[in-house]
Amino acid sequence: MPDLLTVTDLVKHYPSGRGRTVHAVDGVSLSIGPGEVLGLVGESGSGKSTVGKCILRLTEPTSGRIVFDGTDITHLSRRGMRPLRRDVHIVFQDPYSSLNPRFSIGQIVAEPLRQHGIASGRAATEKVCEMLERVGLRAQMRHRYPHELSGGQRQRVGLARALVCEPKLVVADEPVSALDVSVQASVLNLLTDLQRDMGFSCLFITHDLSVVEFLADRIAVMYLGTVVESGPREQIFTDPQHPYTKALLSAAPVPDPAAQRGRRRVVLSGDVPSPLTPPSGCRFHTRCPVAIDRCATVVPSLTPVRAPEHPVACHLVTEDSVPTLAQ
Ligand code: SF4
Ligand code: MG
Repeated sequence: MPDLLTVTDLVKHYPSGRGRTVHAVDGVSLSIGPGEVLGLVGESGSGKSTVGKCILRLTEPTSGRIVFDGTDITHLSRRGMRPLRRDVHIVFQDPYSSLNPRFSIGQIVAEPLRQHGIASGRAATEKVCEMLERVGLRAQMRHRYPHELSGGQRQRVGLARALVCEPKLVVADEPVSALDVSVQASVLNLLTDLQRDMGFSCLFITHDLSVVEFLADRIAVMYLGTVVESGPREQIFTDPQHPYTKALLSAAPVPDPAAQRGRRRVVLSGDVPSPLTPPSGCRFHTRCPVAIDRCATVVPSLTPVRAPEHPVACHLVTEDSVPTLAQ
């Protein structure tokens, strides 16, 4: 089956005063198949949310190509995007600011139905009640207002609003990171169940690898505007190749302490460098614990290492995989 979404060589630069340029996204390619969940992982400032915004066309890409469900949406106008909006929905990070406080929960969840002319009146109310129940809220909740709800309940409303039109793709941008740890797992489990039931594809954006461990089919790791490694979830978790992926994994909490013992903790020094002045060569070289001379000058390209579907951008890793020439 063809991919539902293909992003090719996406670049997003924007001006930042005094003639400087923010290199938010620099040549990202990825694809998501029907019903597939892609976890897009990286620290804050890695450009992962910008990728999400370009896909949703909330921001205009500088260059590259985005094809959704057979349509090139890279430069579609607002009007041109309108029919596609019912098929792509977003779940925001902050359930506090993403729900309009002046509207009831029922109005909030019904809004996309009205906007896309799917249902109104009684039919819309029925759909809203059904959707609220699917996300684990009582139908009566539709008469309440956002301020009367807990953070976990609000994020369930956010999910109901995103899913009520039965979209083909959901972009979930850090959907649980603003929630108390105690409610994160229940919202994640709910999202996993809904995804399996409803079969939508999902781009799940997170800074925390452990969050996508049970949800994602594939994972792409971003560092400073570029993808440094991607592959099937099991391969990323059991056989990570890029030094940055290894560091992220070693920092992720593991429920079973015995499993942690096998993973050497890699502590990265410093913060992600500014996207105003990304380092030359491998962008990770200023923090990489195993960098070699070449890393500061030569850009490593994404090259399949363990399997065709597991590319890695690291000189050390790709060098190992190149067969040595006979003498
Ligand atoms: Fe580290 Fe060099 Fe690999 Fe970059 S290319 S991750 S700096 S070893
Ligand atoms: Mg973000």
